Amino acid sequence: MSSKTIFLNQAVYDYLCDVSLHESEVMTALRKETAELEMAVMQIAPEQGQFMTLLVQLLGVRNAIEIGTFTGYSALAIAMGLPDDGCLLACDVSQEWTAIGRKYWQRAGQAHKINLRLAPALETLNALLADGKAGEFDFAFIDADKENYRNYYERCLQLLRPGGLIVVDNVLWGGSVADSENKKPDTCAIREFNLFVKSDARVDISMIPMGDGLSLIRKK
Ligand code: CA
Repeated sequence: MSSKTIFLNQAVYDYLCDVSLHESEVMTALRKETAELEMAVMQIAPEQGQFMTLLVQLLGVRNAIEIGTFTGYSALAIAMGLPDDGCLLACDVSQEWTAIGRKYWQRAGQAHKINLRLAPALETLNALLADGKAGEFDFAFIDADKENYRNYYERCLQLLRPGGLIVVDNVLWGGSVADSENKKPDTCAIREFNLFVKSDARVDISMIPMGDGLSLIRKK
């Protein structure tokens, strides 16, 4: 739930961005337009976007899926790591927010790689599985309603090829997951999801304190 890495003090965060961030003008403009919105905290941090571009490049991803597109910054970051004939299936339910993304995907010359599906993501994922697409994806980014994380995860795991990567956002949820007094539904859902993944023998994992906490989950 943060548009920057929250577990660093401001001076160190600013330094990290100064010496490592290569954000394009289009991405900066998208981030600034999103920052004006009431739901701006749903924007991922720029250093996280750059990290995701790098992951997509490192893995040689051709087919990616995103659950929760919002205004399209993370989709653009993923698309930028894809080859020219690569494809990102971006799932969201908001016409209004994704319309902002579409504008910038065009401007960045990446729109041809992004296939936006406006429907509840579980429906889209179930349809892909029913269509025989299990094992056809290399990469998934889960960043939507937290109470469905486990449902998204199970479907993405089926859709991924062995060695494919699921990246899950907001796994530290502003630090609230570490506060046992916090019993809010989203916090509990993330806490349960994290514990489940830790004991899931189907995957290799690493949780990193970037942005609002990011889990990297590799399908064995
Ligand atoms: Ca998020």
